[in-house]
Amino acid sequence: MSPRRSASADDLFSGGGVWGGATTALPPPRAAAAAVDSGDRAMPPDEQTKLAARVERAAEAALARQGYASAVDVLTGIGWLDLATLQRWQRGEVTCLEQGIQTRPARVAEAMRLLHAWATARGLAPSEVEYVARTPARPALRFTADGGEATERGYRTHWMSRELTAKQRERLEAKASRPPELVVIQPLQQDWVCHRCGGTGALLIMESAGPSCLPCAGLGGLEFLPAGDAALSRRAKAKSEVFAVVVRFSRARKRYERQGMLVQPEALREAERELARAPRRDD
Ligand SMILES: [Zn+2]
Repeated sequence: MSPRRSASADDLFSGGGVWGGATTALPPPRAAAAAVDSGDRAMPPDEQTKLAARVERAAEAALARQGYASAVDVLTGIGWLDLATLQRWQRGEVTCLEQGIQTRPARVAEAMRLLHAWATARGLAPSEVEYVARTPARPALRFTADGGEATERGYRTHWMSRELTAKQRERLEAKASRPPELVVIQPLQQDWVCHRCGGTGALLIMESAGPSCLPCAGLGGLEFLPAGDAALSRRAKAKSEVFAVVVRFSRARKRYERQGMLVQPEALREAERELARAPRRDD
């Protein structure tokens, strides 16, 4: 993992930090691809065999774990894509996923071809899944810099086991296509600046242009519910039309940790009333 990719929370939340630079600091992907392609056309056969084995192992593991295998599973499984970068892409902070992949574009293309060949030989059923960002506008996430339709579709395809019943497959497809939860960040430092209004605040949400305050992102009316009361959280979340997970970066553990969530105040009041009336189940 390069230092740039595992940027510290300070970098992330210092206002002008990594997001602004993230898309410009890296070389333009098209130029990078061209530079690599010229010397990378013929992959030695033994290298190709090794790559095929790695792709297959990662894909088989994903299939066993979740009933399907995808390009993202393979890229993370063989170690070309780290989870921190994947999450930054899911939050809309990286223009396209390929930019965060730590290997030559020609090898990525080869791995994608190998995944397709493995899935076809394995008789798996292709299913196209929407990938959308965890930001309020939920824009479609891009995998490639040029957005070529065939390549994008390859990335979006989940290869599903035919042993699943139609109902199981339907449930998996629905789950994979469900928009991911909105993620709101409690910054470690308060010197960040909203890219829309120039203000700041105790909470921010990342957008591709930079951090945004919650009112500007359309999340201003929500109320914070700290983690810890599972029954209340579950009920409030179910009743709230809009909700977001609140996370904070832990310097000690070097990862984001869940602090609670933001829900509509009326949903929270209703959940509290319900729990006051009903005897609480243990959960
Ligand atoms: Zn703002």
